[in-house]
Amino acid sequence: MLKIGHEVIRPGKRLGDAEVTIPIPEELETVPGIPLNNREVDWYAREYPLESMNVSERASRDWANTLRDQHSEMREIRKEHEKLNRSLIMACRLTSDLEPTAEPTGEDITDLIKDKARELGFLEVGITAFDHRYTFTSKKDVMTYYPHVICLAYEQDFEPTQTIPSVDAEIVHSSTYRTEGAAALELGNFIRSHGYHAQVTGSGDSPGPYIPMFVEAGLGQLGACGYLLTPHEGNRCRLVSVTTDAVVTYDKPVDYGIHAFCQVCQVCVNRCPGRALMRDKIWWRGLEKNKLYFKRCRPVMARYLGCGVCMKTCPIQKYGLQNVMEHYAETGQVLGKGTHDLEGYTLEGKGYFGPGELPVFDRGFFNMPHGNEYEWSFESFKEKAKAAGGEISDELMQEFKQEMANHLSRDTTDHLSMMDQDADYI
Ligand code: SF4
Ligand code: SF4
Repeated sequence: MLKIGHEVIRPGKRLGDAEVTIPIPEELETVPGIPLNNREVDWYAREYPLESMNVSERASRDWANTLRDQHSEMREIRKEHEKLNRSLIMACRLTSDLEPTAEPTGEDITDLIKDKARELGFLEVGITAFDHRYTFTSKKDVMTYYPHVICLAYEQDFEPTQTIPSVDAEIVHSSTYRTEGAAALELGNFIRSHGYHAQVTGSGDSPGPYIPMFVEAGLGQLGACGYLLTPHEGNRCRLVSVTTDAVVTYDKPVDYGIHAFCQVCQVCVNRCPGRALMRDKIWWRGLEKNKLYFKRCRPVMARYLGCGVCMKTCPIQKYGLQNVMEHYAETGQVLGKGTHDLEGYTLEGKGYFGPGELPVFDRGFFNMPHGNEYEWSFESFKEKAKAAGGEISDELMQEFKQEMANHLSRDTTDHLSMMDQDADYI
């Protein structure tokens, strides 16, 4: 039995459930939240402000959507989701202008907000300061952010998640975003009815990479997979936030032992079909973390139903942090590691891969467009001109002009994000 360094006590999974106690072995203790160098975070935010990859890497997003649309079921799911989610996103955006519907009492309403959030079905809720250093450049002028942020995590159903990558998992992924979006709007109404402003920043339309604020609010720690790992369901959650000027009390970051545990576990790193996850941590934009290779992840996600193997194979997602930590404390082993149940997955058209087995892709598999749509069109134009011996024909020029005109006329709300895996930003 390993020596226990400290215990984390968290509310039960649902409102009214008994609290859970999670033992953290001494050898897994690091820091509450994430190792952070605030001066570096400041410097990067000022000199290299964040931008959504749906903007800066738009060309590969379009390419990925074209590939996904070759799968008839996926095409229908995507269309249906975009149709249903658009009105939710527009409703969320409008919350920035809504006035409170009552006079504020001036009292701290933290408990009221948390109980309401749990009543609405959120699994985890925590509050901290809204940190502008993590706002995307393209979102900075669009919304009014209030000083405090309520960080919310909604559970994605267990069964379909275990079938990742699959059509069923994609359906539940999209529908969870919609359900939590509607619940967050409800929470916004609740806060306004207590006399304060509340802006819903989601769902699927995040102002930036959420995870540092969620970690600061004590909802979990960043996993090697690039997702927030929450105590009850690990990364099997979808995130949304509400900013407010209500009188609230902040939560504190927690050392769940995850920062060190991921270095022992490494299941997602070993199982990633694209070899897109890093084994070792590096310092990136002022945080110490396992970095994701975007260029190795997106081609897999595009071809294999959104992939998500790193979510499916995480033991904390499957068994919960309490069971995982108790097992580790007793045995020094990672619960489920090496089993087909945890590590196995099937890639459509490629077959089943059990523990120790990975698919092989040819060299061209990872080639994809890069940069935004304008940069990529210009890059392609140059390549075609080069191939024609430097000659720029009228036809080539016309094609380039048409592409640029198409980009310019595009609906900018089409820049919506669907990812909680923020590893590449932060
Ligand atoms: S989504 Fe798939 S390819 Fe991307 S990091 Fe996760 S396991 Fe790897
Ligand atoms: S699978 Fe293991 S290494 Fe990966 S995020 Fe989960 S706990 Fe961390």
